[in-house]
Amino acid sequence: MAVKQFQAESKRLLEMMINSIYSQKEVFLRELISNASDAIDKMYYRALTDDSISFNKNDYYIKVTSDKEKRELIVEDTGIGMTEEELEENLGTIAKSGSLAFKNETEIKDGHDIIGQFGVGFYSAFMVASSVTVITKSIDSDQAYKWKSNGAEGYTIEPATKETTGTKIILKLRENTEDETYDDFLEEHRLQSIIKKYSDFIRYPIKMDVTVR
Ligand code: ADP
Ligand code: MG
Repeated sequence: MAVKQFQAESKRLLEMMINSIYSQKEVFLRELISNASDAIDKMYYRALTDDSISFNKNDYYIKVTSDKEKRELIVEDTGIGMTEEELEENLGTIAKSGSLAFKNETEIKDGHDIIGQFGVGFYSAFMVASSVTVITKSIDSDQAYKWKSNGAEGYTIEPATKETTGTKIILKLRENTEDETYDDFLEEHRLQSIIKKYSDFIRYPIKMDVTVR
């Protein structure tokens, strides 16, 4: 499968995330949950103008799951999903993203300020993950797609199987080092406290289901 290259700006941001020594790595979860919430908002607005979609609030939620054996953290939503083109555009480039709110080199070198002050977005997942997989099915498509990246080298997109509209993001957590322990992000209590801290304002239910094997 062909590996596609990230757009230059994206690659720069991605490398910054990968090499980040930022201590508040937990903010990646805020970013993923806020994207999930945005995706559900988009469904809500779509339903207002499209009679074929009924927005029953109970059908819309965000789910955070961890699998300790696989060392995976999964954030899933029942939002609008992405088409193949949207995957390419939204996750391969940051032209449209709030991430570009930062401008000068000093800010970029520092990294700290950017992560603290602005939403760094989807790529912040790479602060804690060695690989990120996105499986998504758009409301506008019958076909689901899988986007996968192991970091700055690029990403792949291929058809996938997914029954329902929405997006599932799977983070393969990095190996622990002497300085950093990523296992924390598999613990229910830790996840709950991060969600409480950053996602209190999210208007949709955030469900949890921790698999312990
Ligand atoms: P921002 O949220 O500021 O636009 P992000 O880097 O967080 O920037 O996300 C980039 C884009 O990827 C989003 O604008 C959205 O179009 C798309 N995206 C990310 N996560 C999801 C998701 N869970 N469902 C649908 N689209 C998503
Ligand atoms: Mg975002």
